[in-house]
Amino acid sequence: MNEKIKLMSSPFIDAKEVSENEIYHTALKKWGIKFQVIMLGEEQAELFKAISKQVRKPTTTRAIEIAEELADVEVMIGQMKIAFGIPDEQVRVWKKAKLTKLGSLCGLIK
Ligand SMILES: [Mg+2]
Repeated sequence: MNEKIKLMSSPFIDAKEVSENEIYHTALKKWGIKFQVIMLGEEQAELFKAISKQVRKPTTTRAIEIAEELADVEVMIGQMKIAFGIPDEQVRVWKKAKLTKLGSLCGLIK
């Protein structure tokens, strides 16, 4: 998850390529871990609110809002991985274990 992203502040200025990790490091340095942990909570709450609203009162346009909030939470998760030194591979291993357990609970794995 460290692909280069083109940042364009203006169509008249050349795009600057930076990695996700560079952005995460810079955000953590600028605002600090305590503030970013609060932001993680806020973004999780916004995602929950968007999904909750969709379940309670479905609309055809809310998927866009949910996608935006999923992206916000993923950005905060990326920062938490950097802040606490969690390698992507470690998360992948845990995710595989959790999916195996879920698949078992669903009866997909015997
Ligand atoms: Mg948000």
